[in-house]
Amino acid sequence: MADEVEMFFFPFMGGGHQIPMIDIARLFASHGVKSTIVVAPNNALSFQRSIVRDQDSGRPISIQPLDLPPGSKPPNSDMSATPFTDTSMLQEPLRLLLIARQPDCIVVDMFHRWSADVIDAVGVPRIVFNGNGCFSRYAQQLIRIYEPHEKVQSEYEPFEIPGLPDRIVMTRSQLPHFHKSQGGGKPRGRMWNSEDRSLGVVINSFIDLEPAYVEGFKKEMAKKAWVVGPVSLCNRNVEDKAERGQQAAIDEQSCLSWLNAKETNSVLYVSFGSLARLTPKQLLEIAYGLEASSCSFIWAVGKIFKPSENGEGGREDWLPSGFEERLKESRKGLIIKGWAPQLLILEHPSVGGYMTHCGWNSTLEGVSAGVPMVTFPHSAEQFFNEKLITDVLRIGVQVGSMEWTSWNAEPGPPVGREKVEAAVRKVMDGGEEAAEMRRKAKDLGEKAKRAVEQGGSSYEDAEALIQELKSRKKVQL
Ligand code: UDP
Repeated sequence: MADEVEMFFFPFMGGGHQIPMIDIARLFASHGVKSTIVVAPNNALSFQRSIVRDQDSGRPISIQPLDLPPGSKPPNSDMSATPFTDTSMLQEPLRLLLIARQPDCIVVDMFHRWSADVIDAVGVPRIVFNGNGCFSRYAQQLIRIYEPHEKVQSEYEPFEIPGLPDRIVMTRSQLPHFHKSQGGGKPRGRMWNSEDRSLGVVINSFIDLEPAYVEGFKKEMAKKAWVVGPVSLCNRNVEDKAERGQQAAIDEQSCLSWLNAKETNSVLYVSFGSLARLTPKQLLEIAYGLEASSCSFIWAVGKIFKPSENGEGGREDWLPSGFEERLKESRKGLIIKGWAPQLLILEHPSVGGYMTHCGWNSTLEGVSAGVPMVTFPHSAEQFFNEKLITDVLRIGVQVGSMEWTSWNAEPGPPVGREKVEAAVRKVMDGGEEAAEMRRKAKDLGEKAKRAVEQGGSSYEDAEALIQELKSRKKVQL
């Protein structure tokens, strides 16, 4: 049909990238776009049930597994992918699929590093998804240009990022390594070269969250940008929220009945995303800090850093003695060892705070749920997201992380239990400052929901992209 638009979506496996890309595909299907999710064989297991539910409700969405050449091994599909996981075995199957199907565009994750040349050679319009928000991208661009971190004497001397609408102070120790090793301070083209050659970028954010930064990003860095989030809000029913990303390590009913027994806004949800590996020492400090705060909590304990398989740091020596027994008795805390149904938890009325590693998806999910946050960044662009939460939006309190750590390196010294307790108390204890943060967080949560409803900025940006694809089609006919 001349007026029907078909979009391909090519996610990168791994929590913080795959999960939002699947949501983006579902979001465009809800706008009537024929949406096809292109994946390695077996990679659809974690999300196919939500796609079947969308299909059952009449949405034009499907999954297209790629045929791998005999003998080649598909990348892991269990959320163990890291930014360096090689997916180039998908190159030829993707090329053949694009030639055969000629969709109106493909939205591709930037971690498929090889993909730009292949897609551009076939002539299918390419839209890039990099998973970050506008504040972090704009702030990092200004750091590249002005190099304020080169003008300080030590890793811990604060510097201000020049040229931002808000006063943002950081230390070298909080910067990703690539900022320090780059040298020359020139912006990397306009960020990534492949973005420059693309039709544009799709961003998981919404204008009311970071208006000045969306504007700065669009003006200075992006060829074209469609800001269509928070995309997690496309998960409207309990099943979609409970099964997002992976099979949860707790059944949804036990989780909900634990939360139902708690007072409104009384529970802190603690999680550090899909990739971070905390040391047993850090987990111990968190456990002591949580216990001392007297606050009720759900703690999703993800991956644990083990210096060596035989060395210290086995799975069980990261809790104070008798901790779990005390929790069971007092019903103060629930520990989920493994994957948590994060959206279901965050959106429950009993949850009144979120200790987060500030991954961008988690940040947006916290914002959408309207909860104030305790920020505990580790890696990637998380320290920038922390500044957005605490210093721009003023809906969170920093726990005091100072050390940026690569996902595959041993984390630095732990943040102590006193800092954990103090930050939790500031957010959860109900004083004047906490009430103000909560009010602002609730307000932003409402704005997030409005952004994705018809007439909202993200809804209209999604429509604008669809219109653009339709008009390109007409020109070609
Ligand atoms: N997530 C989840 N359960 C978990 C851990 C993570 O559902 O136990 C989801 C979370 O809701 C978010 C994603 O995994 O959508 C993590 O992405 P984010 O960008 O926050 O962090 P990353 O995992 O990339 O560090």
